[in-house]
Amino acid sequence: MAGISKDVWYSGGLRFSCTQCGDCCSGSEGYVWVNQEEIDAMAARVGMTATDFEAQFVKRVGIRRSLKERAGGDCVLLDEKTRKCTAYEERPRQCKTWPFWDSNLQSPAAWAEAAEACPGCNRGNLVPLEEIRHQAAKIKV
Ligand code: SF4
Ligand code: SF4
Repeated sequence: MAGISKDVWYSGGLRFSCTQCGDCCSGSEGYVWVNQEEIDAMAARVGMTATDFEAQFVKRVGIRRSLKERAGGDCVLLDEKTRKCTAYEERPRQCKTWPFWDSNLQSPAAWAEAAEACPGCNRGNLVPLEEIRHQAAKIKV
């Protein structure tokens, strides 16, 4: 299991530096899971009540909640002109912790697949093992 042993394939750290390309906020259909605390923070960030924010931007998926997408796959919080997140400082844990998700850390192949979709992987700063673990522990994705 990732995060227990120091003897993991990424024990020497992984390079990541976001290029701000916005690709992870658009494209194929997916889910950005949010909890109440995140909804409250994002609503405050964009100057809305949590109730209005949820009605406009959040959908129910079973017992969970996810941000809505526009036609074409853009996250509803992605600014269509600037291609930046309109709630960036308060974006959900799922967005803040990318690409250090358990699913991407399972194997070098899983990481390589993430890197194919995200040009920020394998470039820039070396993120040490402890920080990777810290990020991965915040949410299970
Ligand atoms: S796809 Fe990667 S590089 Fe592009 S915005 Fe998302 S995290 Fe940053
Ligand atoms: S909440 Fe922001 S960072 Fe997360 S997918 Fe939507 S636009 Fe991207």
